[in-house]
Amino acid sequence: MKNIALLGSTGSIGQQTLDVIANNPTLFSVEVLTANNNADLLIEQALTFKPNVVVISNEDKYTRVKEALSPYPIKIYSGYDAIAQVVEMGSVDTVVTAMVGFSGLLPTIRAVKAGKQIGLANKETLVVAGDLITRLSIENKSEIIPIDSEHSAIFQCLVGEAEESVEKIILTCSGGPFHGKTAEQLSKVTVKEALKHPKWDMGAKITIDSATLMNKGFEVIEAKWLFGLRPEQIEVVVHPQSIIHSMVQFCDGSIKAQLGIPDMRMPIQFALAYPIRIKNAIPRFSFADCPTFTFTTPDTKNFRNLALSYEALHKGGNLACVLNAANEVSVKAFLNEKISFTDIAVINEQVMGQIHYVIHPELDDYIASDKTARIYAEEMILKMQ
Ligand code: MG
Repeated sequence: MKNIALLGSTGSIGQQTLDVIANNPTLFSVEVLTANNNADLLIEQALTFKPNVVVISNEDKYTRVKEALSPYPIKIYSGYDAIAQVVEMGSVDTVVTAMVGFSGLLPTIRAVKAGKQIGLANKETLVVAGDLITRLSIENKSEIIPIDSEHSAIFQCLVGEAEESVEKIILTCSGGPFHGKTAEQLSKVTVKEALKHPKWDMGAKITIDSATLMNKGFEVIEAKWLFGLRPEQIEVVVHPQSIIHSMVQFCDGSIKAQLGIPDMRMPIQFALAYPIRIKNAIPRFSFADCPTFTFTTPDTKNFRNLALSYEALHKGGNLACVLNAANEVSVKAFLNEKISFTDIAVINEQVMGQIHYVIHPELDDYIASDKTARIYAEEMILKMQ
């Protein structure tokens, strides 16, 4: 039995993680549930899964959660700091990090330092501070298992392989809803159009990131840290069918791929059950229903965010942290209809150019860079209106 702390339980990945746990009650139990704001769903989840601890980050909602769960022996805490504390509990085996954005960083660091096994769904943690997290995970023997579907695919392709036999990895990309569109067309994209992803059902932030290719850019950075790769060893290929989840090319020219229908419960289940595989009732992929797989190179001219990620990867330091912070602000502004779709990358690029570059950042530098980048991005957005 694995005891799980699920950070971000009310989001898309959080809900699907609970679905996997509910289907395997003899293998997994919920020790901790945390949510940012959605008290109603958190209460409902706590009533179903009976965790020992529940944390609601928004302190205004504490009383509501406390009262609803008062008949049960569940400890209730509130505030962001509480999330970072509960991951260290002795009764927790695995921490699933399914919160959105930079907020995942501190709780993940605490969990890694406590030597917990990490099911990593919050890719921003590795984007922001990949060197720090990687270093801490080695020092504290904290195993990081990716939940992101592409990285889960690569992780699965690497089972039984020697690290030095990897020539490169090929991250597949659906291309998002706007693949093939011109700059002119992209500038007129509406929020509603951008929120409709052709293949994956995800939260709002990551759906926009997928449409701008920022998500793929972040995945390139995530892959560098997870698998110890150089930038030139990471290739992105557009595969609109989203059946091949990613590939590894080895030193003998052989390529291994991992395939399946696009359903996040598969990589979640793989991460939770690793190193074993368990059965499920998720629909199977049929080659007869999808006889054509296509591949093209991504358009980094009109989708600048992917190019910016490679730039951040080559230059290193705090640049990826800055890119992530600028992007969180610009995506929010787009969702609030304050800027256009193409402005997202314009802001990201300008903030990266303005910020003070730190070559070997420590945690404090990351926190400061994140803060400054957000201020610059907000200022630019104000000027655009
Ligand atoms: Mg992904």
